[in-house]
Amino acid sequence: MSVRCETWGVRFMVEACVSRDVVEGILAYSRHMHPKEAILVLRGKVDFKKGRIDILELVIPPRATQAVGFSAFPLQPLPLDMSVVGVAHSHPSGIQEPSVADLNNFYGGVMAICSYPYEDAGDISIYDGKGRKIPFRVRERQE
Ligand SMILES: [Zn+2]
Repeated sequence: MSVRCETWGVRFMVEACVSRDVVEGILAYSRHMHPKEAILVLRGKVDFKKGRIDILELVIPPRATQAVGFSAFPLQPLPLDMSVVGVAHSHPSGIQEPSVADLNNFYGGVMAICSYPYEDAGDISIYDGKGRKIPFRVRERQE
């Protein structure tokens, strides 16, 4: 792969691996916040050589605004945390693609979108800073 990901100045992410706990956490939090947008910070590890990203943990960002049709959080209260790999947010509209505003406010390396009805991993998509979908698999707890 020679495609570059402008977000981090690194190779394009070819695969993401998301832990089962993170998947269930995103789904549960999105359901809980509905019809407001939920927003969560994703933590994990990035293997730049393999173009692989592992999403291992969720953090509820401090002082987040979670409203109908909008969610955001201020960057200042966040500690400088090199394990932050991106942000997840919900789309109560059911639309799985990132909006123009989503791409303009991109933070980190990846963006996960969880769309209504938030039933299973099929309602979650992961994108890079260019809005390109990154294939992902769910890592079960015993793996
Ligand atoms: Zn969005």
